[in-house]
Amino acid sequence: MGRVRARLFGLLLVAAACLAQQAPAPAMTSDTAEFVKLADDVYAYVGKKNDANAMVIVTRQGVVLVDTGNNQPDTRDIAAKIKSVTDQPVRWVVITQYHGDHFGGSPLFTPPASLLVHDRVARDLAAMKPHQIKSWRKRFPERAQALEGLAPKDMMMSFPDRMTLDLGGKHIELIYVDDQYNIGDVAVWLPESGVMHGSFAAYKDRHPDIRPDYSHGTTITMLKQLEALLALKPRVVVPSHGPLSNVRDLQNMVDYVLLARQKVRVMMDRGLALPEIVKSFEMNEYKDWDRASHFDWMAETIWRELSGLGPIVTKSADRDVTGVVTRVAEAGRNLTLDAQGREIRLRVSSDTNIEGVADRTQLKAGMRVTAIYVEPENFNAALGYDLIELDVQP
Ligand SMILES: [Zn+2]
Repeated sequence: MGRVRARLFGLLLVAAACLAQQAPAPAMTSDTAEFVKLADDVYAYVGKKNDANAMVIVTRQGVVLVDTGNNQPDTRDIAAKIKSVTDQPVRWVVITQYHGDHFGGSPLFTPPASLLVHDRVARDLAAMKPHQIKSWRKRFPERAQALEGLAPKDMMMSFPDRMTLDLGGKHIELIYVDDQYNIGDVAVWLPESGVMHGSFAAYKDRHPDIRPDYSHGTTITMLKQLEALLALKPRVVVPSHGPLSNVRDLQNMVDYVLLARQKVRVMMDRGLALPEIVKSFEMNEYKDWDRASHFDWMAETIWRELSGLGPIVTKSADRDVTGVVTRVAEAGRNLTLDAQGREIRLRVSSDTNIEGVADRTQLKAGMRVTAIYVEPENFNAALGYDLIELDVQP
C-alpha cells in the first residue's frame, strides 16, 4: 500500500473540497467525539466531524480496540474513554484499514497490546522503511522508551481470511472478503450482540472515496464486502468514518454503488470519453451525503473497472537534498529550501521524521538541513514535495 500515494491523494482531496461549490450541509458527526455504548461492554468512538471512528470491546481478559483514532489527540482521547469504563488493559488492536487515520495511533497501545491485521497489511508493515518506523515510534513522545528498537511487526499477528478471537467471554469474528483489490480491509463482527465494525464499505450518508489507484479497493470489492456483511444482518454498524449505520444503510450503499456503476456504463455505451464522463458524473439522488468531492475519482475508477483496467500507478522516487532553509510557513508545515541555487518547496507531515530539533515548530530560516523527499511523476513542484526525513545540522 502506498502511504505516500495515499497522502498525495489526500492532499488533492482537500484542494478539491475547497473548490467544491456550496452544497446542502452534508451528513456530519458532531463537533466533539462521542463514546457511545452499543451493547454490554461494547462502545463506538464516533470521531468528530466525520474523522475516523473506532470500536472498543471490553472483556474480562483485556480490551480489544478496533482502529486507533484520526490523529494523536483522538488516540489519547480514545485511551481516556477506555479508562473511563474499565481498568482492563488494551490487549489487542485490530486494524480494519491500513491508512494513517486508522493505524497511526497504534504506538500508544503496542506494546503491551499486539496488532491484529490481515496478511496483506502484515506484509506492508513488515516492509516499512527505517524512516517510517522512526516516525511511527515518534508519534507519541511519552512512548519513546517503550518503543525503543521496536517496529509494528514486532508485536503483530495476522490472518488470511477469517479469524475468531475468544477473549474473556467475548466471541469476536474478523472477516476479510477475498478480492484481488481488497488491500487488507477487515470487518469485526460480534454475533452475540449484533454489533459490527464494517470498515470502509459501511459508510452511511457518505460518498465512498473509491480512487483510481484502487487504494480503497474498487466498486466490485465494495459490493462483495457489502454482500458478506449484509448476510450477517447486523443490528448496529460502526463505519470507518461518519455516523453509525445499520443493515438498511448497508443495503442503501449497495443500491448506491450499483447506480454509480450504471451511470458510468450508460455514458460509456454512448461513446463518451473519460474526461467527459468525469465531468458529467453526479449522484444527485444522494445530495445530502458528505464528500461529493469524491465524484471525479469515483467516475474514473468505475471507468477503469468497466474497461477491464487495473489500478493507475503513480510512480515516485525518493530524492536526497542538502541546502539552507530560506522560508518557514504555517508553523513549520511548509519549507522553502535553497539547494545550491535551486529552490525547492517541501511539506512537513505527521509522518515526517525530523532530527536535530524537537518538532517542526522549531524550524527557522537559515538552518542547514539534509532532507529526503518524495518526487511523484508529473507533480506540480509549487505544491511542495512531501518530506520523508529532515535532518537539521547543528
Ligand atoms: Zn479513514
